Amino acid sequence: MELKKINESIYYLENVRETDRPVLGYVVGENFSIMIDCGNSKSHLDAFIKSLDDHNLPRPKYALITHWHWDHTFGMHAFEGETVVSSATNEVLKRLKAWKWDEESVVKRLETKEEIEFAYNCMKKEYDTFDKISVSTGSIIFEDSLTLDLGGITCQILKVGGPHEADSCAVYVKEAEVLFAGDAHSGDYYHGEGKIDPIKMKEYVEFLTTLSFTTYIPGHDAPMSKEQIIHVLSRFCEVK
Ligand SMILES: [Zn+2]
Repeated sequence: MELKKINESIYYLENVRETDRPVLGYVVGENFSIMIDCGNSKSHLDAFIKSLDDHNLPRPKYALITHWHWDHTFGMHAFEGETVVSSATNEVLKRLKAWKWDEESVVKRLETKEEIEFAYNCMKKEYDTFDKISVSTGSIIFEDSLTLDLGGITCQILKVGGPHEADSCAVYVKEAEVLFAGDAHSGDYYHGEGKIDPIKMKEYVEFLTTLSFTTYIPGHDAPMSKEQIIHVLSRFCEVK
């Protein structure tokens, strides 16, 4: 896991496949900085904060959350600033927070299909025991979009939907033409075994086409150009 630099204001911590740690984004302005997603555990978040400290970058005041999935949100409880989530994401987090987190309860949720095997296996690798999991809801809630002026640079969190989850959001750094996309373009693992709905994908690709950006940063992959991501996603738009 290495902190990668896009430019003087934008960085990201690389993802880790083994425990499904997603990319954690970072944008620094003249007045304050923000991070994108809180990671899958306190230790993931701590690793991110340490890499900022190592590079003398200011710790983020806000964490903008792309969607409710455990790997993006289970570090929220350990975040020292404010967490910004859509109301749709927050509703799911409320449900997850009320759940019991121990082996038996998680296994039961696998049977009822509220949890998926892949997440279960990755959680087991990330945590010694499930009772170390702590779920938090957000502290700042928005409906469809929210813009933060960091000083000389703005970050807009936009609810984009797409094939992955209904609550998927992306973070757009307008001045730099960078889009942190979370998992928005991925398949639907919680309701559709990873399948991609071509209609939702088409809407998402249309959104990407109209947005002005040069760098696309996915939640579990290396950055791509606008042309690359649209090319990759276009073949999933065809209704078979
Ligand atoms: Zn996800």
